[in-house]
Amino acid sequence: MHSATLAINETLQARRAAGEKVLHLGFGEAGLPVPESVAAVLAGAVRRNGYGPVVGSAEAREAAAGWFTRRGLRTRPDQVLFAPGSKALLFALLATVPGDVVLPCPSWVSYAAQAALIGKRTIDVPIPAESGGVPDPERLAAALDEARRAGSRPGALVLTVPDNPTGTVARAERVQEVCAVAERHGLTVIADEIYAELVHAGRAPSATSYLPERTVVTTGLSKSMALGGWRVGFARVPDGVGGAGLMDRLTGVASEIWSSLAAPMQAAAAHVLADPPEVLSHIDDARRLHAAVARAVHAEFTAAGALCRAPEAGFYLYPDFEPLRPRLEARGIDGGAALAATLLDRHGVGVLAGEAFGDTPRGLRARVATSLLYGESDTERRQALRSDDPLSLPWIAASLEHLRGALGGLTA
Ligand code: PMP
Ligand code: GLU
Repeated sequence: MHSATLAINETLQARRAAGEKVLHLGFGEAGLPVPESVAAVLAGAVRRNGYGPVVGSAEAREAAAGWFTRRGLRTRPDQVLFAPGSKALLFALLATVPGDVVLPCPSWVSYAAQAALIGKRTIDVPIPAESGGVPDPERLAAALDEARRAGSRPGALVLTVPDNPTGTVARAERVQEVCAVAERHGLTVIADEIYAELVHAGRAPSATSYLPERTVVTTGLSKSMALGGWRVGFARVPDGVGGAGLMDRLTGVASEIWSSLAAPMQAAAAHVLADPPEVLSHIDDARRLHAAVARAVHAEFTAAGALCRAPEAGFYLYPDFEPLRPRLEARGIDGGAALAATLLDRHGVGVLAGEAFGDTPRGLRARVATSLLYGESDTERRQALRSDDPLSLPWIAASLEHLRGALGGLTA
């Protein structure tokens, strides 16, 4: 089955191409232009046509090690592995780390789908009320005991800090508590930190602070640099318990599936991960824009009567229309799929139903991605990135207006 995020992107693009007016809140693509210096580095690397080492070039691994180290996580180049997107790395990790897979619920669409492709069971544990990306620590311990009684062998725990779909950042105490449970149960933590550069204020906690020898970090340039289509992902494998063995096994999987990240992309990665000033200021601008637009969209959903955690990182919201259930049920909307279908078919707003993220089909919840509102062209997107008041740009203001009308129509 086609992954729900990519499927809705293609559906919404096709509707737009056919002339429909559709507000695209369905896909987590960071819709921003490529900085000139980064484009120039890629252009200059176009003649690099050798495969190179499976783990990545020496210069890219060195740059990634420096990048982690400058963020407080001492890393050697031999702990780094590059891949065409962190999605491929997550698949390789789920295939490599022994045992079944523990997931926060809701969580990003591909973890459970990848585990199913590999033939592993998943153990879903609800997130705490205040923020997503980690399981509720108390429920985690009980769920692990119950899973074992049912014959499951939990081996990996995926944490998404900051989170997709909720757009929140788990509190450090929660991450610490969850790591303590993971340690007691001998789990390997797969810390998906792809949104770590996009925390609206402050920094996100990392499982590497609490369980350094059992935490593998995955990340990439898709979100912070809006380079999703360039497919640059990388992992940091720990020292300690099984670290070296894990690196060998991961490299083996990589060698049998993707051979290496495209060589010109490794040159781009080496440039970006050296933190040159223009890259850092591009990310600062992006972070500010994501925060401003996510906050404005959040205000629209809460004004319409939905419950919604305030956005803290990246460009997602996860509104819950439960307070409006009687009104929505009277219109035949009894779950997330009907909610998303009505928003799209009657109001021209594309969102993804919560069940794509493992949520219960009955929940009146959907994931809203706000990062495709910045403009249709590079010129508009560049203007949005540079603006002190992006909400006043006519195309962004018009989208917010469209959303307001849609939500008004949905709940009237
Ligand atoms: N993790 C999360 C939480 C994501 O939202 C995404 C979105 N693409 C990915 C991983 C994978 O990103 P990529 O393969 O582009 O690195
Ligand atoms: N991660 C993005 C999302 O959640 C899209 C890309 C993908 O799923 O691979 O919408």
